[in-house]
Amino acid sequence: MISYKGSRFGFYRDLLSSSKYFKLVCGAGNEDNDEVEYLAFIYTLAGCSGFDVSASPEIVKSAKNGIYSAMQKAQELGFPIPSEPLITVSVGMPGDHHVRKAFINSKCVSCDLCIPVCPTKAIPESLEVIADLCIGCGNCEAVCPPAAKAIEYTHDSKKLLDVLPKCVDAGAESIELHAGVPDDESTLKEWRIVSTSIPNGMISMCLDRKHLSDSSLLDRIRSAYEIAGERLIIQADGIPMSGGIDDLNTTLQAVSIADIIDTELRYKDARFRTLPILISGGTNSHTGYLARQCNVPFNGITIGTHARKVISNYKAKPESISSENLRKAIYKAQKLITTNLYGK
Ligand code: SF4
Ligand code: SF4
Repeated sequence: MISYKGSRFGFYRDLLSSSKYFKLVCGAGNEDNDEVEYLAFIYTLAGCSGFDVSASPEIVKSAKNGIYSAMQKAQELGFPIPSEPLITVSVGMPGDHHVRKAFINSKCVSCDLCIPVCPTKAIPESLEVIADLCIGCGNCEAVCPPAAKAIEYTHDSKKLLDVLPKCVDAGAESIELHAGVPDDESTLKEWRIVSTSIPNGMISMCLDRKHLSDSSLLDRIRSAYEIAGERLIIQADGIPMSGGIDDLNTTLQAVSIADIIDTELRYKDARFRTLPILISGGTNSHTGYLARQCNVPFNGITIGTHARKVISNYKAKPESISSENLRKAIYKAQKLITTNLYGK
């Protein structure tokens, strides 16, 4: 058994044990350095425990810059940040929606329906998707007329063995594998690489039920545990993956998958009693409330699209943001965190 007591990871294990872990998802495919720096800056000041970023050393550095700027600002403002947030890099299996990029093919009929539904403004009027902004959510595909079928995807197949050590060198302390694909064998092969890339760090597997039945989902977790042991964290991901709409229904599937893992695995199998479950995917300001109403225990909540959206109006470099906008952005981010974790 690995002992994390007194270590930096021990601090995060304690946050997980007390259900106080909040992770901001910058986007597995988000390679916009300025945005990642801004998100890390604001959410660190708001009390966020961790950030989930694209598996790129440059993006890890941007997140680090945002965190350092926030630590300095916190000192200036005279309030403590108990521990530097943890950076997780996300990698994914081909086919997992978190790591794909949309593109528009020649069948497009220029109806423009996809432009307003894109949560990251990745589709300009020219209808050429801005790959750095695309998070692979599939909203555009959902509204694209069936007769056109103009949205397709590419998979950014990063070479795990090459990119992960570089991300760790740049400051990543945890790795997450998006594994919502049917194939067990290749998933577990990549999971082994993730596990050996950070032999003593926490590693998480992100799973949803788009391609997995409930029993395949539970089997996948059992197999992941065989490799990772107590380092395993499960990110229970809802469908849709984007919490762009801030209502209960959008976050329902995320709470539901967490409930299945809790009742079928944690409750019934002693090995998994302390397995940390993070609720993610379609998460928004109602997620913690819904989980509490349904008696679904969780160890943390991770939010992407909705969390980015609530502070998007104030975006600026840390050194140039106005005091007024800084105050408003921190307030919005803090409110989202405390509403979810503490219900107030
Ligand atoms: S709607 Fe989603 S998948 Fe489509 S371009 Fe925008 S971010 Fe990418
Ligand atoms: S919704 Fe489909 S057909 Fe319409 S503009 Fe977008 S990609 Fe083209």
